[in-house]
Amino acid sequence: MPINSKKIYTPLAIDAPVQELSGIGNKRAATLAALGIYTVKDLLFHLPREYRDRSLIQQITSAEIGEHITIEAEVISARSLRLRGGKTMALLTVRDNSGDMKVSFFGRGFLAHTSLKKGTCSLFTGKVGEYKGLTLQNPEYEPLVETDKSDPLHTGRIVPIYPLTEGITQRQLRQWIYSTLSSVGEEIQEILPESLLTKYNFQKRTSAIHETHFPTTMQSAKEARVRFAYEELLTMQLGIFLRKAEQVDNAKGICHDTNGIVAQQLRQSLPFALTPGQQDAVDDIFHDMASSRPMFRLLQGDVGCGKTLVALHAVAAAVDSGNQVAFMAPTEILAEQHYGTLQTLLNPLGIQVALLTGTSPNAKQLREMISCGKTQVVIGTHALYQQKTVFHHLGLVIIDEQHRFGVSQREALGKKSSVPDILHTTATPIPRTLAITLYGGMDLSVIPDMPPGRLPVKTALTPDNKKEELYQYIRTQAEAGYQSYIICPLVEESEHFSELTPLIDHYISLSEGPLKGLRSALLHGRLDPKEKEEIMTRFKAHEIDVLFATTVIEVGVDSPKATTIIIENAGRFGLTQLHQLRGRVGRSNIQSWCFLVGKPTTPEGRERLDVLRTCNNGFDIAEADMKLRGPGDYCGARQSGLPDFRVANLLQDARLLDTARYDAIQLLKEDAALKAAEHQMLAQSIKRFDTMFI
Ligand code: ADP
Ligand code: MG
Repeated sequence: MPINSKKIYTPLAIDAPVQELSGIGNKRAATLAALGIYTVKDLLFHLPREYRDRSLIQQITSAEIGEHITIEAEVISARSLRLRGGKTMALLTVRDNSGDMKVSFFGRGFLAHTSLKKGTCSLFTGKVGEYKGLTLQNPEYEPLVETDKSDPLHTGRIVPIYPLTEGITQRQLRQWIYSTLSSVGEEIQEILPESLLTKYNFQKRTSAIHETHFPTTMQSAKEARVRFAYEELLTMQLGIFLRKAEQVDNAKGICHDTNGIVAQQLRQSLPFALTPGQQDAVDDIFHDMASSRPMFRLLQGDVGCGKTLVALHAVAAAVDSGNQVAFMAPTEILAEQHYGTLQTLLNPLGIQVALLTGTSPNAKQLREMISCGKTQVVIGTHALYQQKTVFHHLGLVIIDEQHRFGVSQREALGKKSSVPDILHTTATPIPRTLAITLYGGMDLSVIPDMPPGRLPVKTALTPDNKKEELYQYIRTQAEAGYQSYIICPLVEESEHFSELTPLIDHYISLSEGPLKGLRSALLHGRLDPKEKEEIMTRFKAHEIDVLFATTVIEVGVDSPKATTIIIENAGRFGLTQLHQLRGRVGRSNIQSWCFLVGKPTTPEGRERLDVLRTCNNGFDIAEADMKLRGPGDYCGARQSGLPDFRVANLLQDARLLDTARYDAIQLLKEDAALKAAEHQMLAQSIKRFDTMFI
């Protein structure tokens, strides 16, 4: 179809649904929805994933076999053949001023008497083949009418290649985008202030959008993409800072007493000194808590670095100030473990600690104690942020392993009182770009060191046929007074009991076989909380030598005597998860081992295990994991609220993100609420990211 035959709508509203475009009805709109395209704007921001340079038009006689060429030629003969099986084929001879060649289209005989009939002129792009002379088979083509010659769409230029979905072709998408571009015209308003356009020599928004789709040069396409990525990253960062200003910087929080009696006693009761990293983190937290600006801090540190102890200092300060503390854990096991730790340290100091989970039998009573203020510290899971829980005077919220909580969940708890101090902790090192994106509004403390005397865990890949030796190793460890974990590949904790069969079978066959005589136990998500708690208590008390478990033990479970972890079918776990599991051992000055059993079936699986074997640094592992899986998948697993970028890519655009972050800070220094006229469009475009801000 000649390009200009499209009906042009003027003006076409940028937020109009795609159905308003000519050629797009409800059916095609539904197909486009699969690409996330609902509005005209979405269509315009459906950017090419790559380009083909078809700008050079060659002479037919200069074509060589195997070469990709673009020719401009007239159809001098056109036939439609019927093939066996009912298919058709168009067979053309085309000519330019240098010579002739054959062009064929399998399955599309109709072309010979429609768009490519005798006498028409077209651009053809494809790979030169040979069949009774030079031929192009199924080339891309672009019919030319006199007026189009200056602006062909599908060939004879740098041509965009879009991400597609079933039911839509490159040609259709190109055509729609092309005609949309010409009809929206000046509707595409500039977002960036003049100063930034000049600073980076960016293309104007209107020309940048043209250049990303139908670039004049490859370089220009690249520059346009950078401009849009920058624009997205800048608005996202501005949004984060504005939200932070509203919720933190300009909000009124609680001034906690950080030098009270409980804090002092806690310090004295510890059997060891804090590491410098822990001390710095405590200083950061105390500084926040003492100030009337609410704390909104992320405490990051690799597994076993001692974050719980740091968090405990915060608890002490809150209690000293007569406030309540909500301590949220991602799993019941972890909640129970924290409960144990906190009770041991806080009960002697006369502090009321309670555990409230979804299955607490005395939940109603506990809630009453909480709402009248008798209970000072509440440890719990998601049950804690249910509407029913009302705090008397909530002063501090600690959210452990916070990536496991969704944005709305975090918000719900925050609303329980005026503005409590909030401390998030995570043992999952997050790649820096992600941290800036997801938690950019938080202050950050990182514990870089480990308690003294820790030996890095050694990691080995073990083939299935060497497993007997591993069990022997576990026996010798047990005889020497050390514990082991055996982890089975339950990817998802399932409601269905059958899913547990491999673990249970494994448990039975090993504890009756190679591990006979050792004290073993089984831990999985289907056990009721009391049973889980009992097993964990027994494991910590060293009444169990070998713990068979699913990934319920992934986060934070702690026993210093555990020196061996066997991860069966390791290829089925994610890199970060494996690192977390490995963190269950190496919690003392005894050499610990992690054995990854089973042969990975994919190259990616092999690479994952290799990273793990050679690397002990959680941050490096996180980076590698994100690279292997891509930022979307990497985060998807933990419903983290990653923004829905159209252009920016956190892997590729790390440096651009830094630039944008810096510029966002500068911009807000000049214009804290984005009130200036030249910032209006920026202020508006921030709304797009509203759902991601925490
Ligand atoms: P994380 O929560 O960061 O994974 P934990 O708080 O569970 O780590 O601490 C791991 C272990 O290290 C615990 O047994 C804890 O008692 C111990 N520990 C914490 N801080 C220190 C320290 N400064 N010196 C010695 N041991 C410590
Ligand atoms: Mg404060």
